[in-house]
Amino acid sequence: MSKRTTKRKLSSTADAKTSGTRVLAAIGKRYGQESVRDRIRAFFLDNIGRVATREQIQKVARDPKTGRVPENWHQRLSELRTDEGYTILSWRNRGDLKVSEYLMPTSDRRVAAAKRLKIHHETWLRVLERANYRCEWQESGAVCGLKSGDIDPIGGGTVKLTPDHKRPHAIDPAADPKNLDAWQALCGRHQVVKKNYWDHTTGWLNVYAIVQAAPEAEKRRVYEFLKSYFGDKP
Ligand SMILES: [Zn+2]
Repeated sequence: MSKRTTKRKLSSTADAKTSGTRVLAAIGKRYGQESVRDRIRAFFLDNIGRVATREQIQKVARDPKTGRVPENWHQRLSELRTDEGYTILSWRNRGDLKVSEYLMPTSDRRVAAAKRLKIHHETWLRVLERANYRCEWQESGAVCGLKSGDIDPIGGGTVKLTPDHKRPHAIDPAADPKNLDAWQALCGRHQVVKKNYWDHTTGWLNVYAIVQAAPEAEKRRVYEFLKSYFGDKP
């Protein structure tokens, strides 16, 4: 019986590719799993090859008892990619997806992604001290500076600082977990921004996300470069 289910799912994925039509995800049951991540994972695995919307993900992420949408659902979605090695595509990877749409093309997982480098506890305490217990993200020469427990004025939610390995571990797997300089303290919003710079589905830098987050002057430099590259032709 499970064989038939797999076949049906595979053929709907193929249909979506060959005909160019988008097969939309559906919420066919109640997701009562303990954790937010478990509920989102189960929903995606039920909808392989189908386009899921932000509203659908928020709906399945809801606490089954209170009905509340968790404020950190997007981070849990990122963890399915980075910690568990699932491929979840978004508009950054595929042109036919809109900004609030996501798609898991296969249930296969990348094994390497499951192993994440952990900072040494003592090192993390020293990084926090160096950071003055504030987010160290820098943009246009300004430091984010949000403190643990603050309310993030842009992203909403309570700020929690977590360690970020400055270089993607795929590039630098042997970095010393005790090397202070290899780590920085980041707030949740900037962890997500940073993660978007690195495309875990392709293993390449996500140039589009980097340019999008770049300061105005950098954007203009890229724009001038592209103009001269294309000789002003579209
Ligand atoms: Zn920040």
